[in-house]
Amino acid sequence: MIVFIAIIAAICVGVIVVKARQRAKAREIARERHGKQCPSCGKYVHPAAAICKHCYARLPASKT
Ligand SMILES: [Zn+2]
Repeated sequence: MIVFIAIIAAICVGVIVVKARQRAKAREIARERHGKQCPSCGKYVHPAAAICKHCYARLPASKT
């Protein structure tokens, strides 16, 4: 019985890890598609933008 519970727990942990990785990857794809994220308001702006179009905060220069 304990082994059975341990197996289920291991599967649950595995599913959580996989889902977290998928979410991280989806966030990365969204970032690439929408540009960089404003550190002030958290919205996505154009990768080459120097000033956020949402809150007009100064953005860090992109390296590319
Ligand atoms: Zn902003």
